[in-house]
Amino acid sequence: KFSHPHRLGFESFNPAGKIPLGLKRKGLRIVVSGGAGFVGSHLVDRLIARGDSVIVVDNFFTGRKENVMHHFGNPNFELIRHDVVEPLLLEVDQIYHLACPASPVHYKFNPTNVVGTLNMLGLAKRVGARFLLTSTSEVYGDPLQHPQKETYWGNVNPIGVRSCYDEGKRTAETLTMDYHRGAGVEVRIARIFNTYGPRMCIDDGRVVSNFVAQALRKEPLTVYGDGKQTRSFQYVSDLVEGLMRLMEGEHVGPFNLGNPGEFTMLELAEVVQETIDPNAKIEFRPNTEDDPHKRKPDIARAKELLGWEPKVSLRKGLPLMVSDFQQRIFGDHKEGKN
Ligand code: NAD
Ligand code: UDP
Ligand code: UDP
Repeated sequence: KFSHPHRLGFESFNPAGKIPLGLKRKGLRIVVSGGAGFVGSHLVDRLIARGDSVIVVDNFFTGRKENVMHHFGNPNFELIRHDVVEPLLLEVDQIYHLACPASPVHYKFNPTNVVGTLNMLGLAKRVGARFLLTSTSEVYGDPLQHPQKETYWGNVNPIGVRSCYDEGKRTAETLTMDYHRGAGVEVRIARIFNTYGPRMCIDDGRVVSNFVAQALRKEPLTVYGDGKQTRSFQYVSDLVEGLMRLMEGEHVGPFNLGNPGEFTMLELAEVVQETIDPNAKIEFRPNTEDDPHKRKPDIARAKELLGWEPKVSLRKGLPLMVSDFQQRIFGDHKEGKN
């Protein structure tokens, strides 16, 4: 087997372990697919700050140049407009694979989760890079186990309106494990639970972004169904910390990365009212098909093996995204589109 001298960073140039004192670890070369999106762009900020060279691969399907524009001109940063459904040749040490149409209004009829993941795994195999898949709590479907542990296999409708996303991510996990077992690719799998924060898409229909935008625009908060369904909301900086620990750690996973604080949608609406506008009205709408009734991560595995747990509660995190939304909704939009 041929080796990849760049793979381990600085240490690999010092096989005898004689790293000169005072020298820091050599920066890694890292691909972040979907790096112009909400989570990806926050991850890119952390990697760049750590001293790594980052290549963002994004087709701007739901991501925006504005999310990463502050790195333009930095020699450690590159942005490639590319659809991961097409093959891609790069030489890198690590791949964070986030590219995915991530919201119900976007994810139908899209091959990214399967073909895009296959291409990124092919790339990882060719250059000997470590590959991290951002999977989702949706692999548990409408769960019959609560809270969900990583050992739970899930309750997913294979032919429903959400299947393209759920089953797409389940297939992505399968491909990832097959490349791990069959081709010896170093892989990591994160199952991400609902995450919110600055730079979230404003109009992609997710509940936190909907409620925050509605409250700011003085529109009623749209609660689907009876509002008693639950979700557990994680602030984006906690997720990014978890993803980096997972990538750097020794464990394949899968790992649940989420905040165990569980809220009904009516409770979420109340927190949004408290944070933005106590007079905001609530309007009930019919719920979507196959909507999971409850969801809450069991994070014991991540706590034990990654030494990770979320630090930002919903009441602390929500105000942190409000000013970003305010500026994007009401601020002057001088920046051009994509
Ligand atoms: P996002 O939509 O903001 O980011 C996804 C990015 O991928 C966007 O920049 C988009 O343009 C890009 N993309 C989509 N299809 C692509 C393609 N074919 N080629 C290249 N780029 C493409 O969503 P996000 O919330 O930042 O999600 C990031 C990842 O985390 C996704 O894989 C998502 O499934 C996963 N995840 C997110 C959450 C959450 O609550 N935010 C929950 C579970 C899982
Ligand atoms: N691939 C890629 N970049 C690479 C190597 C592979 O995009 O650097 C793509 C390749 O085009 C293929 C997929 O990844 O569609 C899987 O590659 P692999 O080598 O595992 O499969 P094979 O080509 O042998 O079927
Ligand atoms: N939801 C809601 N009002 C909205 C958008 C969503 O009540 O304006 C509900 C939705 O029915 C679901 C929950 O909020 O029960 C979370 O939806 P989201 O799409 O944010 O995440 P996911 O269903 O993927 O967990």
